[in-house]
Amino acid sequence: MTNPPVCNYEGSDYQQSFWEQGGREYEDRAEAIALKRLLPKSGKLMLELGAGAGRNTPRYAGFERIVVLDYSTTQLAQAQERLGRSDKYIYVAADVYRLPFRDRLFDSATMIRVLHHMADAPKALAQIRNALQSGGVFILEFANKLNIKAILRYWLGRQTWSPFTREPVEFVALNFDFHPAAIRQWLGNLGFSIENTRTVSHFRLGFLKRTIPAAWLAALDGLFQPTGNLFQFTPSVFVRARVNSQPQPLMQVPSNVIHLFKCPDCGGNDLQEKIDHLLCPSCNSCWAVRDGIYDFREKL
Ligand SMILES: [Zn+2]
Repeated sequence: MTNPPVCNYEGSDYQQSFWEQGGREYEDRAEAIALKRLLPKSGKLMLELGAGAGRNTPRYAGFERIVVLDYSTTQLAQAQERLGRSDKYIYVAADVYRLPFRDRLFDSATMIRVLHHMADAPKALAQIRNALQSGGVFILEFANKLNIKAILRYWLGRQTWSPFTREPVEFVALNFDFHPAAIRQWLGNLGFSIENTRTVSHFRLGFLKRTIPAAWLAALDGLFQPTGNLFQFTPSVFVRARVNSQPQPLMQVPSNVIHLFKCPDCGGNDLQEKIDHLLCPSCNSCWAVRDGIYDFREKL
């Protein structure tokens, strides 16, 4: 099976260099405000896609169990260090284009600062739709090509690509910005309704970040975020989308982790737990289980 290329943070110190020493306290706080307003207060089973080192994971504490998913096992090891090993967190290394979960399992999913790296966004979104129950909630953050800076640069002739057209723009290899209308169309085609949109990082400007305390700037951002329901010109946009259909009673989440999974190669639902791997009896694929991480990227 050929898949779009994956942006791999294996071995990266992204958490430290980008978030902790990168002067991004304002962005982190502004995201926390958006998430708090958009997230269901509680739930059974959350799928966090592109969790990285688990920066956002503690914000999902109202969920009984959380699948912490990333393509990079070194990022997941950092997340494990931060969150600990317990029944609450299930660490999974997998490719978003072939998710290893049974259909219609999760009541919520989030993907924050991840779509940014997707060469085939609709394909990834379809996988997520498939993992969500009827009435399930999906919180998606995307980088917005229709942002004020890009518009000004385009009008001043300093940028060749138009921020107004719907196709994604790849401004650096495997880094994409999206048009809000394209995102709405893709989600709509998959049977999601968008319930709420919040624009985030209105004040991502060096001189503001240097002169105003991050907590104040983020609080101010929080006041502006609801305007996202009217227009979107910020570099970052959050949407809460819901799988159309009558909400059904929450299904029982299987207590045995192995019953969450399907084989990403053949779709077989009857994986068997062996000492250090999972075996798919339908296609004989083996998937590694190492240091508390289920690895569905490449079969053994
Ligand atoms: Zn299989």
